[in-house]
Amino acid sequence: MLAIAEQEWLKGFLDFFFPPLCLGCGMYYEGQDSICGNCFQKIEEFDHPFCLNCDSIVPSGSQCPICLKDSALLYVFADYRPPLKEIIINFKFRGITSPAKTFARAIASKFEKQLADFNAQAIVAIPLHAARKNHRGYNQAELLARELAGITNLELADNILYRHKRSRPQSRLELKKRQANVAGVFAAVECENEIKRILLVDDVVTSGATVLEAKKCLEQNGYTVVGIVAIAHGH
Ligand SMILES: [Zn+2]
Ligand SMILES: [Zn+2]
Repeated sequence: MLAIAEQEWLKGFLDFFFPPLCLGCGMYYEGQDSICGNCFQKIEEFDHPFCLNCDSIVPSGSQCPICLKDSALLYVFADYRPPLKEIIINFKFRGITSPAKTFARAIASKFEKQLADFNAQAIVAIPLHAARKNHRGYNQAELLARELAGITNLELADNILYRHKRSRPQSRLELKKRQANVAGVFAAVECENEIKRILLVDDVVTSGATVLEAKKCLEQNGYTVVGIVAIAHGH
């Protein structure tokens, strides 16, 4: 063990060469979550889920006021705009994985009631194609799902859903082409009835085409997708 004075010295030394910088604004700050209080305050949380069919807010129940039927709902923590957008870009592309824990906690506390109501048996993350995951070194949605599984005491089922075809990044396509881009990209191991009720997790949902395609693939293989959660939603 280092003496207190040595610990202080070491911290000062590390801070000098590797100052803790906020992932949202890039400013120096002291804290645990890699996100400063100022940036956290600016994150615009959503109070209601979205209809994945028409993107409308669903204020209560599961019936969309526009589609006038029960829709697949997306429970999402906040709006995909700065500073959250910058934080997620750091998380997704720059090898900074600490937001997984921060946002798993945020999702678990914001949607505590819904997560209990889903009564899921396992969590499945939207997979990356193996080549993309190898290139990046990790799948950010899976890191988030793993943290969420730890908090909720659910199993992380990382061997059920696969992305067997590569697709172009959705963000570079117009809305109409996004559905076609992800059609048939997933494959799933057939349900053997031990784990049936799935909570689907993604980091960012834009048009919803990807999560809906994953849901369809899981359901074609005998699972029930009981809930869909994400950190951010936007375009
Ligand atoms: Zn900040
Ligand atoms: Zn709708």
